[in-house]
Amino acid sequence: MTQPGAPGHETAFTNYSTQLFRSLFENMTEGVALHTLIFNEAGVPVDYRIIDINPAFEQQTGISQKIAAGAVASSLYGVSPAPYLQEYSQVALTGQPYRFQTYFPPLDRHYDISVVSLPEQGFATIFLDITSRVRNEEKLSALAKFPSENPNPVMRVSNSGELIYANQAAYKKFPKWLFKADKLVSQDLQENVARVFEEQVSREVEITTDDQTFIIDITCLPGENYVNIYGRDITGKKKAESELRKQKEELLRSNADLEQFAYVASHDLQEPLRMVTSYVQLLERRYKGKLDPTADEFIHFAVDGATRMSLLINDLLDFSRVGRRGGKFSLFNAEEPLKRALYNLRTVIAESSAEITYDPLPDVFAGATEISQVFQNLISNALKFHGIQPPKIHISARRRLEDWVFAVQDNGIGIDPQFYDRIFIIFQRLHKRNEYPGTGIGLAICKKIINMHGGKIWVESKPAEGSTFFFSIPDTIPSQPAESDQPE
Ligand code: ADP
Repeated sequence: MTQPGAPGHETAFTNYSTQLFRSLFENMTEGVALHTLIFNEAGVPVDYRIIDINPAFEQQTGISQKIAAGAVASSLYGVSPAPYLQEYSQVALTGQPYRFQTYFPPLDRHYDISVVSLPEQGFATIFLDITSRVRNEEKLSALAKFPSENPNPVMRVSNSGELIYANQAAYKKFPKWLFKADKLVSQDLQENVARVFEEQVSREVEITTDDQTFIIDITCLPGENYVNIYGRDITGKKKAESELRKQKEELLRSNADLEQFAYVASHDLQEPLRMVTSYVQLLERRYKGKLDPTADEFIHFAVDGATRMSLLINDLLDFSRVGRRGGKFSLFNAEEPLKRALYNLRTVIAESSAEITYDPLPDVFAGATEISQVFQNLISNALKFHGIQPPKIHISARRRLEDWVFAVQDNGIGIDPQFYDRIFIIFQRLHKRNEYPGTGIGLAICKKIINMHGGKIWVESKPAEGSTFFFSIPDTIPSQPAESDQPE
């Protein structure tokens, strides 16, 4: 064993320290690379060569020892000049250590690098791959921006009403009446925040001032001495809603005007028309066969025209009366109005040898007289537009979502699909008067009644095979139709 001071001690010590450093070098988690600078003829450093690396180098860079050892930096990393040549040369030439953090593009990694000088213009880099830490930090800082990037106002307010945080949108969108100089100033909001602290339950409030309206969520965070406040500017939505309301009112008003007009026109026209009709009929009775044949024909046309006009005016009056009687909605079984309609049609039913059947029908909340009128119009059409076979009519109902959908099915002449919509328009008919009598008001009345109930009416048909008329009635309690103050 070598004694200290004895010859050979220095060698043993050197060996020991070499081993020590070697062991440190081998076992460090940081990557270590020893380099020498490469100079050009003018003595300027132009590159550097790796002369040794520790095992951690491979782990920290992904470059194997075989490739790295002895390699010239610029060719190893594929960049010229070699990475950080200036900084490394500075350390090697001045002996001043240097530490920095950097993103190293050739390896797409982030490193924390310490550079120390070595004898003979060499230098060592001791480095750690900090990529995952940097990426996490990036993620965290991106997340930290989350509330500030929120286009809606976000605030955090302490239980003493101090503003702990407000994002840009809060400053931009919340007006001065809400908070000023980092304090809530809206009395309303202050009271609501105080309630949230007191009751420990989140609240949503709508706050309006002048021309702005906000929905404000005050979120209670149990155990914390602050609340989070999230705002939404609903001024635009409110304006749109009020605009829509105005338009609806306007539409209702102009509809009411139109109905009033139709009602007054048809009602007031009845009287002079009655006079015209009765006088041309009188003319016909008194002078038929007493004047020349052309006069007879003219009088006949006048009587026919007046009669038709009277029918149309009566129909128009019926149409405009729908919903004007102020009939109350009530709860009844739909078989009641159906039976009433069948009773009213009993003669036609008997004459046409029709077979009419129906399934059990549900209770509905509706206008009973009006629903009876719908059944009557649909069944009378089914009787009228029959084919070669005697009419076979079936009435049923089924539930579809929130509605009851009634069906009146016949085996009649059917309807071409191109006319499905047209037949519901007032006075629109598909046949001449001499083929099938009628004025074309029945389905228009049905449509008005069903719409009044918040439902829909439509038809499905196969020409020559039959038609099924459907109408829906919401199975909820609809709002009462407005009481009418119009004269009948
Ligand atoms: P009208 O019966 O007076 O003609 P409607 O308004 O009740 O008036 O009907 C309009 C048109 O729809 C009818 O002229 C007819 O062409 C067609 N239509 C209605 N119901 C039926 C049906 N059940 N089968 C075939 N066509 C029908």
